[in-house]
Amino acid sequence: MDGLKKPLRVAFVAGLILAYGLLAMRFGSCQAVTSPLAFGAVVLGVLWWERRGVLMAGAFAALSVVPHLGGADAADLWGGLARAVSLLIVAFGLAESKRLVVRARRVSERMYRDIMGKALTGIFVYRGEKVLYANSRFRAFLGYGDEDLTGLSLWKFFHEEERPAVRARLAERDQGIVSDLHYECRLVSKHGHPVWADVVSSVMEHEGEPAILVSVYDLTERKDVEEKRQELSLLALKQEEQLVHSTRLAEMGEMAASIGHELNQPLTGIKNYAKNAAYMIEEGAGDLSEVKGNLDLISSQVDRASRIIGQMRQLARRSERQFAPVEINQKLRETVEFVMPQLRLSGVEVSFHLAGDLPEVMGDSVRLEQVFLNLLTNARQAMEDMQERRLTIVSRHEAGAERPVVVEIADTGKGFPRETAEKLFTPFFSTKQARHGTGLGLSISLSIVKDHKGTIEAAGTEGRGARFTVRLPAVHQDGGANPQESVA
Ligand code: ADP
Repeated sequence: MDGLKKPLRVAFVAGLILAYGLLAMRFGSCQAVTSPLAFGAVVLGVLWWERRGVLMAGAFAALSVVPHLGGADAADLWGGLARAVSLLIVAFGLAESKRLVVRARRVSERMYRDIMGKALTGIFVYRGEKVLYANSRFRAFLGYGDEDLTGLSLWKFFHEEERPAVRARLAERDQGIVSDLHYECRLVSKHGHPVWADVVSSVMEHEGEPAILVSVYDLTERKDVEEKRQELSLLALKQEEQLVHSTRLAEMGEMAASIGHELNQPLTGIKNYAKNAAYMIEEGAGDLSEVKGNLDLISSQVDRASRIIGQMRQLARRSERQFAPVEINQKLRETVEFVMPQLRLSGVEVSFHLAGDLPEVMGDSVRLEQVFLNLLTNARQAMEDMQERRLTIVSRHEAGAERPVVVEIADTGKGFPRETAEKLFTPFFSTKQARHGTGLGLSISLSIVKDHKGTIEAAGTEGRGARFTVRLPAVHQDGGANPQESVA
């Protein structure tokens, strides 16, 4: 009934009144027949037109009484009066309750608008892609000021690159796959600037019909902070790379002497074999195969020298982070080979105990080498004044562990007091003379290992050596046996 259009309502009530009149003419004052029609017309009249409905009730009341005023039958007059009073009570009662309902609805609508208007969140309501309401915070957020946004398309507020994704989300909700939506996306301001927002939307009832309520939180500041944080961490990363590079250069400086010594050997060999070959040719001593033998030896010495130079160049090269599967055993062998000249000069005995089935590690080969290089250099330096100089390099596969690739580098050096162990990884902590140490090696190693989601620990006893343990996650964490291969 509520949905009937005005002409239909008028026609309906007029029909009731006409039926009332016709029945009254046919049956006279038989109230049992005419009353329901009068009450029906009055109830609908008050519900639809309030005051006019009450006036209609007054007219029916008069019609109920007036025809009996001059009559002889007092019963008819009293019956008419009773009907008139009932009609008026129904009309006034209905009018009053309608008034109360309307007032309650107005109060709740005012409260709803107050809440929306004063909310710290941007809010807009739409139905069928058309905006029905937008609060002041939403308008301010997108730079619309006091403009009325009613009737605008909701797509006007979404950045064009975001529209397909948002449409897909809305379609999901229309199909009932999700109910409420929550996502981050770019809106677009009145002046065309993209602005980041956190958007929450849900179905609601607005002015008696379903609509969509959208809450919008400004994310610009958070995005700015995130961007700054990203810039800062990139900067920190760059600085760390520079630090790693400078430490490598410092270590190279220290190594230069022993590398020189190492290069001297192949060079002396080359000189001697060349002299020998020249002598054989000049003097006709020895046959061609002996001369060739000398030339082969020269060639192998050149290979050795160029290998040493190659390693030097590799170490000095500054590298960007490059993660790829790394074979840790091979990396350990290469790094030890690289520092072997110094270890030999210092009279250090080296032994390897490498796990045969060590899983590969996803890592930056150059940086991991830097960690091992630092641990080996520290170990060698710690053993300088010791009688016994033994370096033990162990790799172990701890199947099932979170970080199953374990490397231990242990020495018989001067060790360190228990309380110092914690400080070793702090930047600039060094017990070495300025010429030998920067105090950065272990802190850089720690940050590299952390970058690989690994851990590094130091254990030692004063005067009785130290052991550094590095644990790294494997490329494929699928466990396996743990045979130990001893390569002394
Ligand atoms: P640096 O070697 O430049 O001093 P590191 O950060 O590499 O800086 O080492 C910090 C300190 O840790 C060293 O000065 C030394 O006292 C101690 N340390 C590191 N490795 C060992 C080791 N194998 N034995 C004894 N002390 C060590």
